[in-house]
Amino acid sequence: MLTRDVKAAFFYGVTTTGVFCRPGCASRRPLRANVRFFRSASEAIAAGFRPCERCHPTIAAAWGGPLDKIRAHLEDHLDRMVSLKELGRITDLSPFTVQRIFKRAMGVSPLQYQRVLRAGRLRGALKRGGAVTDAIYEAGFGSSSRAYEGAALGMTPARFAQGGRGERIGWCIARSPFGWMIAGATGRGLCWLALAGTAAEAQASLRTEFPLATLHRDSALSKWVEKAVASVRSSAAGVQDQAAPEALDLRGTAFQLRVWQALRQIPRGQTRSYSELARQLGDTKATRAVARACATNRVALLVPCHRVVGASGSLTGYRWGVDRKRKLLDAEKAL
Ligand SMILES: [Zn+2]
Repeated sequence: MLTRDVKAAFFYGVTTTGVFCRPGCASRRPLRANVRFFRSASEAIAAGFRPCERCHPTIAAAWGGPLDKIRAHLEDHLDRMVSLKELGRITDLSPFTVQRIFKRAMGVSPLQYQRVLRAGRLRGALKRGGAVTDAIYEAGFGSSSRAYEGAALGMTPARFAQGGRGERIGWCIARSPFGWMIAGATGRGLCWLALAGTAAEAQASLRTEFPLATLHRDSALSKWVEKAVASVRSSAAGVQDQAAPEALDLRGTAFQLRVWQALRQIPRGQTRSYSELARQLGDTKATRAVARACATNRVALLVPCHRVVGASGSLTGYRWGVDRKRKLLDAEKAL
């Protein structure tokens, strides 16, 4: 707590203010005599503390604990492949559970996340002018053949970057209260959910995002449009869970994945500013990068980038039009 370790898996409450925080919170350190420690956000709440406005400990709660441990462990051991079994050992979970909770939170498996991190490091090292072999070792690939192997295995984010070459994407168009919507899904899950003024515009959006993918119509995907609309409008509890986030096929850089994951922790009816999200991700200078990650979100509503606004509360931009963003936020506030 004294070193503001963002990875520390506990919470502290301050008896004089009645507020509880994550250890990484930027607020002033209280006197030791006024501090109580908790294992979870719910324990702190049960003890009568309310969440800090600055570090949003309840939002971080879903992200803390085993997930944080898994992510930190992967990031600390890029020099070798980390198995699900190993991740299970450090979290006291079964390899199956590790896979499931990580995929649900991040939209990618632990193995895919490792690949994304390594590929990012490799690109970074090459950009800094390192020799190729040095860059490969620095990125945590044990040998050059393994780096190429990694690429050959299908570096999935790169594949998407190449316009979906080699991907089969099913699609379905439906009308919604917020305009026409199109859902696109690979065999791994939902990869595209967009809003549009007309059916033709919706269809064109998919083609533009994945110019090289093989597209086919799949009417079963209309369930995604229903789930997305329900995530904004329905007052039924548990809608978020029904949206089965493990069935999303999100692909991006490690940073994008973390931003999208953080977006999914913003409760319906609430908003966050870009700088708040950056702080939550532990990098106050990343505000612009957060904004870019929001602008490149491929799954409208279910990855609720519409819940991010300017510091002054202004709507700023929205990939699918600021008017629609206003409509979505109004619908959420009306509940
Ligand atoms: Zn705090």
